[in-house]
Amino acid sequence: MPGPVKTEAVVLRSMRYGEADRILHVYTPHRGRVSAIAKGVRRTRSRFGGRLEPFFRLRLELHEGRGELLTVTGAHTVDGYARLRGDARALDAAARACDAVGRLFETGEPHPGVFNLLCRQLSLLDEQSAAAGRSSIGRAGALAFRLKLLLAAGLAPQLGACAGCGEREHLIGFSGAAGGVVCGACEAASFALGEEAYAFMADALARPLTETPEASDQALGRVERAISETLEHHAHLRLMPATAKTG
Ligand SMILES: [Zn+2]
Repeated sequence: MPGPVKTEAVVLRSMRYGEADRILHVYTPHRGRVSAIAKGVRRTRSRFGGRLEPFFRLRLELHEGRGELLTVTGAHTVDGYARLRGDARALDAAARACDAVGRLFETGEPHPGVFNLLCRQLSLLDEQSAAAGRSSIGRAGALAFRLKLLLAAGLAPQLGACAGCGEREHLIGFSGAAGGVVCGACEAASFALGEEAYAFMADALARPLTETPEASDQALGRVERAISETLEHHAHLRLMPATAKTG
């Protein structure tokens, strides 16, 4: 249905196109991932200013034609997350968060919860990057965000009972193929998860992003492996690592 569209959106990617235009991938609450072209945006007098850059939260006015690409006709900043832009780790974390959302939720299917989650994560990165000039951005927060994306995608790992047979005791491993923790009898194709990683996953899923628990690097490594194997088996998707190696 061609015509005007008004929506909030977070810019996931912004790519140069032709002489003066940009192609945007944005994530919206009610239309999922949307691609749009902004014309003349790279001219100095563009009415869009610099706000069509990654991570901006905007109120967008779009025109929908026959094609898949909408046209940006207006853009107003809701939040530019300015502090985040001065911190290399926060920028990197924001890029990984946007990449994960864009790839796990790449269709027009509405997931308003995912939009809200992404906005909360960007706000949190913005706050953490400013805190006493010292970045507190780490792997635990990035993994908690991914676990919540899995939950929104209907792929939350089963943690309460063996994902193979339903046994509630002796849950020793994690199997991406089975979709959660597994018992000794079902352990084929699983890896040892360990209590700390298990507790992190359960807590991170139960608490808001602002209350993400801490955990050792070893435990977080196992959590990341559990998330990666779940995504590979059930969404055929490989995301980039949750954090840069130097982090
Ligand atoms: Zn079992």
